[in-house]
This record gives sequence, structure tokens and C-alpha cells, in this order.
Amino acid sequence: MDDRFDAIVVGAGPAGITAAKEMAAAGLSVVVLERGQFPGAKNVSGGILYRQPTEEYAPGFEAEAPLERPIIEQRYLMLTEDAMLGGIYRSQKFAEPPFNAYSVLRSEFDRWFATKAEEAGAEVYPEFTVTDLLWEDGKVVGVSTGEPDGELYAHVVVLADGANSLLAKQAGLHKEWRPIDQALVAKELIALPAETIDDRFQLQSGFGTAYEIFGESTWGMLGYGFIYTNKESISIGTGALLEDLITSGRNVNDMLDRFKKHPAIAPLLQGGETVEYSAHLIPEFGYNHLPRLFADGVLVVGDAAGLVNPINREGTNLAMMSGSLAAQTVKLARERDDSSIRTLAHYRELLDQSIIIKDLHKIRNTTDFAHSRSHLLTSYPEMMSEVARTYLTVDGITKSAKMKKIAKLMAGQPKRRMISDAIGGIRTMLM
Ligand SMILES: Cc1cc2nc3c(=O)[nH]c(=O)nc-3n(C[C@H](O)[C@H](O)[C@H](O)COP(=O)(O)OP(=O)(O)OC[C@H]3O[C@@H](n4cnc5c(N)ncnc54)[C@H](O)[C@@H]3O)c2cc1C
Repeated sequence: MDDRFDAIVVGAGPAGITAAKEMAAAGLSVVVLERGQFPGAKNVSGGILYRQPTEEYAPGFEAEAPLERPIIEQRYLMLTEDAMLGGIYRSQKFAEPPFNAYSVLRSEFDRWFATKAEEAGAEVYPEFTVTDLLWEDGKVVGVSTGEPDGELYAHVVVLADGANSLLAKQAGLHKEWRPIDQALVAKELIALPAETIDDRFQLQSGFGTAYEIFGESTWGMLGYGFIYTNKESISIGTGALLEDLITSGRNVNDMLDRFKKHPAIAPLLQGGETVEYSAHLIPEFGYNHLPRLFADGVLVVGDAAGLVNPINREGTNLAMMSGSLAAQTVKLARERDDSSIRTLAHYRELLDQSIIIKDLHKIRNTTDFAHSRSHLLTSYPEMMSEVARTYLTVDGITKSAKMKKIAKLMAGQPKRRMISDAIGGIRTMLM
């Protein structure tokens, strides 16, 4: 116990590395234990990294970090069995610095980011899996890797071990997650020449796009498919709430295969070679079911704490921010020489004042709203596709006859349900 570190961080993702970097920069002794071969080796992410928050926690990263393409366009699309429809936002402003976001390969980015924590003075040890927390008088005082001599002690342990944190459960911060609290996503990295990507996605050389695709991409389950362009590869994935996957008996591998074969998607991937496959959980319990985020001697950050905004595809930035707030709390704990719950509660206060909790509060009812209305991702896209096909088909039928047919198609939807969806949607957005 005499050679205790100021902090042990479990997990070298963006949350753990930000925490470690900031604590080390403040002169604290910090060790990071990461189970992967290197930081990022085990990471699965779609790979959109937002510039502004990253600049805050990794100043100057644009000049140094391994980045893929600045994202100049966002598409929100719906798939039916045979059609694709949706909206595009492409802006020249997004194509000029300061960029809004980049695509990244997280295995490369996380590895680079970990060197920044090392430069600040943190010790980062890959290939160490923490299996247990060490306790004294009801307080977390360290971690064990389950090996002989594998016990390390610290004033504070920061759990940054990602989604489905077994250690946060061991710390008593949460119980077993319900399947409705997690989404399961399968992702592939598909290699394609840069010029092919530019042509297929109508991009100026070097720039990138992000597609979020609902409906048939998930068999109509709550979730979405995505396609992000990298320099010489495409990140493609799809996922849904675990509960819906279990109930429907579907699995995400089949879902991804089916998504890739859709007539609107397959031409984008043609000739590409799958170079990486992975599957991962995303915590979806949100504000209404947030776990406890601290206890005596321990703080939990990033995905391990459920700090993800799935509606706006924000996870990495929130992970970094929570890591930074945890670092501020540990600094305070060391100043006061008190790592009890009394001082560590400051972390929750900081979170409550931050954009993380404010945004999670804002979207707190969105998942429940959409989950209770499965037709939003099935019959509505079908209807919209039918409306578009009717209107666009040139077949000798007059436009007024077409409008009548369209009105009939729309009237075919249960009216009460449409009104309730509209009111429910507005209420969910505004409250
Ligand atoms: C398919 C998919 C697509 C996504 N797309 C985006 C996106 O485009 N943009 C975005 O902002 N967010 C995205 N996210 C979310 C984002 O990836 C996460 O929110 C973010 O990585 C969380 O960071 P973290 O540091 O909390 O956890 P992680 O990045 O998961 O890092 C946790 C680390 O802890 C290590 N670890 C786990 N257990 C142990 C242990 N017992 N001992 C030692 N080490 C351990 C792991 O190996 C890992 O390196 C996506 C997530 C998924 C699954």
C-alpha cells in the first residue's frame, strides 16, 4: 500500500486515455492497464471523430494523429426491401477548416492517443486484463490481473473498460444489464481504392461522407446501419437493441450480410475486400437508467458508465469529456487526501453541469418512444417509398389521379396512430 499510485485506469480507450493524460499532466502517478495487444487493438467503432472536442483533449491532433477523411456530408436514409429514400446535407463549409468531423480507424487513433498520455507521464501497459477489484474496509483500493504479483494499489481506480463493464458491476455500481439497455453492432472494414471511393460516393479527393441508414438495414428493428468512408476503406455496420435481436431470433452477422446485399448498398461495396470484422455492444440505457458513477475509491467513465448519445452518434467525444471530468475529480481527491465517496461525488456534479448529462437528459425518452412504435421503421418507409414511386413513375396517368392515389395511400395508415406518432415525436423532442 505504500507504493500506491495516485490512480489506476482500467482500459486505454478515449475515456481512459484522456483521464490518464490529464492526471499525469497534473503531476499525479498514473498507470493504465489495457487488455488488448495495444491501445485500440480491441476497439470497434464506426469511426466518426468530432474535431472540436478532440482538439480540447488532444490539442493539435489534426497535425499529428492518424486521420482518414474530413466528413463533408451526412446522409440520413431509409431502406425498404427494394428502395432507398432520404435526405442529404452536404456543405462546402464542412469541406473547409475548421472541419466538423473526421473518419478514423480507431485501432490507429487510440494507439496514437495513448502516446500522448505516455508523453504526459502516464505508464500504459497493454496485455494486462484486470479481473478483480481489490477492497479494504468496503473501499476500492486497487486492481488485480489474477496473476501472481498482479496486484496494484491506488488512491483511486478509474474504470474505463468500455461497454458492459464487468468491473463496474463488481464495484456494485450497476446490476446485470437488461437486453433493452444494450445494442449489438456488427461492423466490417472493406478495402477499396481511394479513387473508387471518391467516384462511388461523389467525393472530391480526400473528403469523406457518413451515411446513417434505417429500416431494412436492421430488418426494421430499432437501430441503424452506417457507412463511413475512410482513405482506402469503408466502415460498414449495422446493429439493433439486444432485446429485439433476442425476441426476433435474428443475429447481427446475418443482418450485416443482408444489409451489404441490398440493391442500393451492394454497388457501393462491389469489388471490395473485407479486411476486418468485429461485433460490439453499445450502452443504450441513457439518462433514465444511468448507473451510479462513483463509490469509495472508484469512478466510472465513458461507455462503462453508459455515457453515449446513440441518437446523435456521439460516444468518443463523451468518453473523452467524462475522462477529463474524472481526472479533475481525482486531482481534487489527492489535494484533499480523500478518495471517499464524499469527494468523488464531485464527479457527478461536474457531469451534471456538462453537455453530457444535459444532452442525455434531452434525449432520455427517444429510445422508449421509437421502441414502442416499430412501424416507424417499417410501414412508414414502405408508405413513403410507395408515394415516391407513384409520383415519379411516368405511365400515362394524370397528375391529379396520382395525387388521389397518394392521398389514399396515406389515408391507409391508421389516422389515430399517425396523430399519436406526430404528437409523441414532438413531445419527445421538446421535453
Ligand atoms: C459499431 C460502433 C460504432 C460506433 N461509432 C461511433 C462513431 O462513429 N462516433 C462516436 O463518437 N462513437 C461511436 N461509437 C461509440 C464509441 O466507440 C464509444 O463510445 C467509445 O469508444 C467509448 O470509449 P471508452 O474509452 O469508454 O471505451 P472503449 O473505447 O470501448 O475502450 C475500453 C477499453 O478498455 C479495455 N478493457 C476492457 N475490459 C478491460 C479489462 N478488464 N482490463 C483491461 N482493459 C480492459 C478494452 O480493450 C478497450 O480498449 C461506436 C460504437 C460502436 C460499437
